[in-house]
Amino acid sequence: MAEEAGHSQRNDTVRRRVGLVYDERMCNHTTPDGDDHPECPDRIRVIWNKLRYSGLTERCVVLDAKEAEDKYIQSVHSKTHVDLIRNISSKQFDSRRDRIASKYNSIYLNKGSSEAAYLAAGSVIEAAEKVAKGELDSAFAIVRPPGHHAEENEPMGFCMFNNVAVAASYLLNERAELGIHRILIVDWDVHHGNATQKMFWKDSRVLFFSVHRHDFGCFYPGTDDGDLSMIGEGPGEGYNINVPWEQGRCGDPDYFAAWDHILIPVAKEFNPDMIIVSAGFDAGIKSVFATAVRDPLGGCCISPYGYSVLLRKLMDFAQGKILLSLEGGYNLESLANSAHACVQVLLEEKPIDGSSEAYPFESTWRVIENVRLKLSVYWPSLANELPKKLTSQKAPASQLLVEVSSESETEDIEEAIKDIIQPLSALKVDEDQKDASVSWRAEQKLIDIWYASFGSNMWKPRLLCYIQGGQVEGMQKSCSGSMDSSPPKDVMWKCIPHRLFFGRDYTKTWGPGGVAFLHPESSAVEKSYICMYKLTLEQFNDVLFQENSLSCNVDAPWITSEALNTVKNTGSFSIAEGGWYRNVVFLGEEQGVPILTMTCDLHDVQAFKSAKLPRCAPGSFYANTLIRGLSEGGQLSEEEALAYIKEAAARPL
Ligand SMILES: [Zn+2]
Repeated sequence: MAEEAGHSQRNDTVRRRVGLVYDERMCNHTTPDGDDHPECPDRIRVIWNKLRYSGLTERCVVLDAKEAEDKYIQSVHSKTHVDLIRNISSKQFDSRRDRIASKYNSIYLNKGSSEAAYLAAGSVIEAAEKVAKGELDSAFAIVRPPGHHAEENEPMGFCMFNNVAVAASYLLNERAELGIHRILIVDWDVHHGNATQKMFWKDSRVLFFSVHRHDFGCFYPGTDDGDLSMIGEGPGEGYNINVPWEQGRCGDPDYFAAWDHILIPVAKEFNPDMIIVSAGFDAGIKSVFATAVRDPLGGCCISPYGYSVLLRKLMDFAQGKILLSLEGGYNLESLANSAHACVQVLLEEKPIDGSSEAYPFESTWRVIENVRLKLSVYWPSLANELPKKLTSQKAPASQLLVEVSSESETEDIEEAIKDIIQPLSALKVDEDQKDASVSWRAEQKLIDIWYASFGSNMWKPRLLCYIQGGQVEGMQKSCSGSMDSSPPKDVMWKCIPHRLFFGRDYTKTWGPGGVAFLHPESSAVEKSYICMYKLTLEQFNDVLFQENSLSCNVDAPWITSEALNTVKNTGSFSIAEGGWYRNVVFLGEEQGVPILTMTCDLHDVQAFKSAKLPRCAPGSFYANTLIRGLSEGGQLSEEEALAYIKEAAARPL
């Protein structure tokens, strides 16, 4: 009996004190006109409800949310920025909010924005302080708006204040007596933590580790800041570690490898006093089985089990003093499941049930080896070359071929499994079909073409959805990607004498609004911008299938090498069974390689002229994607791009 009593007492005393912060007022930050937006109030509601209904909130310490004080926010943000965010909710800003928001990258503002931003930053400070003091073992701040994109002097990427950076700076600079002198910030959000990187760029007290989808600089935020060569400067040199994935689809095995072979060895050397996780869940999927149901913005595949393992591995450091602060995560089910799994780990000190037996991608090993090479000067534990036996264990090519997209978040797991298994079995059962597909693909891999885009594909991250799968902001549905996910070999811009116009009034991908078409015939008085990507003919066919809402899993291409000759000789080639973009048009050659585009045929042009088919200006997301393409490609300023689109939409055909 005595022993039993002792045992139960021990259980009580070792029960971990896990703090949670949540406040419904952070839901008052919404789009001003009620438009749908991925960064929506339900993101934090679903997490909170999941924790409540599963009984986890009762096992945690629930903290009151607090607004941050200006002086603490100003340790990482400029006064101008803090003034801006504070005043957003004031009356005199009523009519100006939209205009102000439009000046920034991916920002919306409403009356509730100021309070939510102050509560998010303040709540993370509150939770950080309690963990630092030892009043709590660990904590999870369920806050929004997120923070890691918010720069010193501007809101960005749905973020107002950099909550994690504010809290880290608070502990280091305001509360030194708490003994937190070295902080490890782990940013596992699928996007690079650009702002956190800059804020501690020269600071060796903060080791910033960000693992993110980079796609060679094409994935949001779309700069080179997330490159692995960005390692910090001055005293902070070596204290900034980026692990930039070359593609989407990275999942549990890829992240485990990054932990085991970069983060964990470095964390041992750095020996942090506390860990703060920029916990975005937009690299997540809702379960191990549902790789089809990825985050609409992220396109990666960490399962809730995967997150629980990643977090558990961190608990061995800093005496388990860990604070998670919510960043992104836009598939509500995956978000709630992953956050729930993390709270379970904090409480129980072990991962949730699950397993992951797949291997990392070849590109994962490449990235990890390059990061180790770059940083081994600062972290000797990274100096050894990884054994070949380890790095030769990689995901089989078939894993890359199986690509399923899904529009529905409510799809159940069985459906998802069926989606995965069916294409697999189709490949296995129908050997003839497989062979046919393989043979045309093998042949077409050797033929290069320039794909000339004139619509949303001018923005490279959007084009890459057709190549590597996934979706970008504003797209309502995910692309499956090409069977060959290699990035374009070259990119080039040109002006051509063709008419750009906008037709149709609704698309499955973008919702309401017209999409771009190019008049197939040239005209000396017209001028349109095209962004040309050097692709293989196989990839061009896969883009063509997707532009026409068809699967790439087919046994014959639309543009065979014979058809390519026809296009070159006659100027165009119309595909009988095609959709809106069934007409492949030849636009000349560049470096001896043919330039092809896809648009409507002349018959449709007549129908647009006579209003049998609707013409309609593009919706805001579609237009913004065009503007980003044109401005980031250096063709036009944002204002000029907007004027170009407006003119093309308004002028009669
Ligand atoms: Zn994100």
